[in-house]
Order: sequence, then structure tokens, then C-alpha cells
Amino acid sequence: MVVERYPKAVVFDLDYTLWPCWCDTHISMPLRSVSKQEIEDSTGMRLQFYKDVESIIRELVENNVKIIGASRTAAPRIAQEMLSLLHILDTPAIKFFDSLQWGTGSKVKHISKAARQLGMVEELSKGEFVLFDDELRNRDVASINCHFAHVRDEDEGLTRGIFVNELKSWNRSLRSSE
Ligand SMILES: [Mg+2]
Repeated sequence: MVVERYPKAVVFDLDYTLWPCWCDTHISMPLRSVSKQEIEDSTGMRLQFYKDVESIIRELVENNVKIIGASRTAAPRIAQEMLSLLHILDTPAIKFFDSLQWGTGSKVKHISKAARQLGMVEELSKGEFVLFDDELRNRDVASINCHFAHVRDEDEGLTRGIFVNELKSWNRSLRSSE
């Protein structure tokens, strides 16, 4: 275990958090699988998850953390297909998500809905959710007591360094509010 305690749920944005593109503007359908870790769109553009994503999702699963996807994309069908074609541990990545929330509007709405769906409203109110996201405007999730973890660099996306540092900072803030 790399951190002393994990949150009960981790929410991931998709575009520029898990993969380096906007699926509603950069991807031309149809998609095809190149390998379990790589896909190609109809223009020949190839795409993978950022390199630390697989090990981070594996770690969360091993520690019984619920995994939620929350995307404001205008193309949920494309995102769903990408999550189905890209694999983690030889399994389509989409199978690791306990809840997927889509659509425009604030992530406050996405995360509240996922919490209701998973029976985790109380855990959310107690600060047991962390959102990893590249867009600072989504910091407003702090209003529902979800920790906002900023993914700063679109070349690197979600890295192990960001993951560990943000979980540490979440642990500290939770302790100081007790
Ligand atoms: Mg994003």
C-alpha cells in the first residue's frame, strides 16, 4: 500500500486525464483495436491510456475502491467504445468502472448521481470521494465535499506522482477536519 488509506471512491475524468485526446473532437469513427493496449481511429491516429493509468486502476481495484467515470463529453458513445477496446489486465477497461456518468454540466451533478446509484451518499458527504480531472473549472466538486485532484500536464495525464501526492493531501485534509 503506497498511501495509509484509500478513499471509498475515486472518480476519473476521461479526456486528458486517462487518455490524450478529446474523444468528441479528435476521434473519427470507426475505431479498431491494434492491441489490447492500443486503438486506432479511421484517420490512423493511435491512442493508448497514459502510461500509469493501468497500474493505478489495478491498485484501486485491489484495495476495494469504487471507480467512477465522469465525463462532460458530447460523445459518450465514442468514449464507451474506447473504454471497451482498451484493456486492463486483459479485461476491457469499462468493466472496472462501477459507475459511468456523462453529459454537459457540472461534475457536481455527475458525482452526486453516481453516489446515489452506488448507495454511497453518506460516504460522499463524509469526504470519501476524490476526483482526478485536468480542468480546473471542475474544482466546484469541493461544494459536495469531493476532493479535487488536478491533472496538470496534458502530455503526461494522470501520473503515479499526482495520484500518490493527491491521496496524501486528501488524507491530511480529512484528518484536519476531524
Ligand atoms: Mg478532461
